[in-house]
Amino acid sequence: MDTVKSTLQAVQARIAAAAELAGRSAQEVALLAVSKSCSAEAVRALANAGQREFGESYVQEAVAKIAALADLPLIWHFIGPIQRNKTSQIAENFDWVHGVDRVIVAQRLSTARGAEQTPLNICLQVNVSGEVSKSGVAPEQLAGLVTELRSLPRLRLRGLMAIPQATEDVVVQRAQFARVRECFEQLNRQGAGLDTLSMGMSGDMEAAVAEGATIVRVGTALFGNRIKG
Ligand SMILES: *Cc1c(COP(=O)(O)O)cnc(C)c1O
Repeated sequence: MDTVKSTLQAVQARIAAAAELAGRSAQEVALLAVSKSCSAEAVRALANAGQREFGESYVQEAVAKIAALADLPLIWHFIGPIQRNKTSQIAENFDWVHGVDRVIVAQRLSTARGAEQTPLNICLQVNVSGEVSKSGVAPEQLAGLVTELRSLPRLRLRGLMAIPQATEDVVVQRAQFARVRECFEQLNRQGAGLDTLSMGMSGDMEAAVAEGATIVRVGTALFGNRIKG
């Protein structure tokens, strides 16, 4: 079997094993392949092995790749920091945006989303580790942001996204992801109707799946080490 396919299957097996341990179906967890800094050819190879959803962090690089791969039925997620002056390009080219944490950015995305396109799927970024430098809103600010998002016609609020503080301590990983899940559950008790928890990366996807992740964002384990980003 070729290495691209076996690498993909190894990651799928990690997700399936974590889901089974948690008493969940592996079908509940979507694999988002994070292809930032990877060539369009590398994405095409993974797509040929069966992967459909890809995540990108840098707008210019992503837009070129999306154009080069337009012949494939891929779903593109923007997962990087969102600069205000890039919101049009993001809204026009992507299917999902993770990491929305300001009303102004949401408004701009909604305005730029084409009337002929389906509404843009949105995950709000929540900061559960309280690091000043990290983006994402504090848990207390989520409900207000959810209300604001509701009034924006071209967006479809799907859930929460988080990038907790990196640690190899599985207990700490679990606690951080559990905090994100609690925010998600609380919003749903208030009627938010969310169905997506985007959390977990190459080093902590098992802990994220154990705490309810529905999308894991995996780069290194699929594509190897990046030069940048
Ligand atoms: C790069 C990146 C990932 C993937 O990280 P890996 O450790 O390479 O799996 C996931 N999420 C976000 C937001 C990223 O920027």
